[in-house]
Amino acid sequence: MSTPIKTIAVLFAMDAEAAPLIAHLALVEAPDAFARSPRAPMKCYAGTLPSGTKVYVVCNGSCVKHNVCNVGTVGAALSAYETCVSLSPDVLVNAGTAGGFAKRGGAVGDVYLGTEFKNFDRRIPIPGYDAYGVGSYEACATPNLAAHLGCKRGVVCTGNSLDATETCRAALEEYGASVKEMEAAAIAHVAHLFDVPLIGVKTITDIVDGPVATQEEFLANLGTAAAALKDVVPKVIEFLDGKLVSEL
Ligand code: SAH
Repeated sequence: MSTPIKTIAVLFAMDAEAAPLIAHLALVEAPDAFARSPRAPMKCYAGTLPSGTKVYVVCNGSCVKHNVCNVGTVGAALSAYETCVSLSPDVLVNAGTAGGFAKRGGAVGDVYLGTEFKNFDRRIPIPGYDAYGVGSYEACATPNLAAHLGCKRGVVCTGNSLDATETCRAALEEYGASVKEMEAAAIAHVAHLFDVPLIGVKTITDIVDGPVATQEEFLANLGTAAAALKDVVPKVIEFLDGKLVSEL
């Protein structure tokens, strides 16, 4: 894209991850954002920067059957698709919490920018489908943003389980995962479809190769990680505002 970034959409899975940022940026719910799809579960919060750039925060919303947030790839793909169709963003940012890896230097509270997005649990051992299953997508190149934030960078691996079986762990090792979460690769698939650059910003709530059970560590650190997102995502937005993608 050779025009300056004027519309930024930030996608979150969970309301609790996005809430501090929505308050911090004083965004207002935009109930008509997805009016073309009245049954779509995602929620949009909108605001305008002093430069005139539009900022949208889109959360996956809640499952009408199970009454919890639509975490995972299905909710993420729905949100990303509706966001691209209805909001026409110049850039997508997927922000959220994630698991990190001690063996790759990860610690709770770290901020990562994704370099690549891969599915770690889509095993389809048929020629052609094997690569489709992994679905490897490059992140938008952001060397200047990474330097500006002083954050870590690494491969983000996506799957639909919060825990990890031995088979998952072997795939995570093979793909060089620094970050494990449940949405980014699905959003990358949609971003590729619409030819929109995608940036992944993930804060670490739990250590996949550490001693504490993921769900306990995740719940203990969710508030801290959401606060870290509230601090880092505005810096990302400010950096993107008005820049060319090639300047990131
Ligand atoms: N039990 C939680 C549900 C959260 S599911 C609750 O009751 O609130 C986990 C969410 O956090 C997903 O959106 C996922 O992207 C992210 N996440 C954080 N740590 C993760 C990990 N170790 N593995 C996978 N996803 C993780």
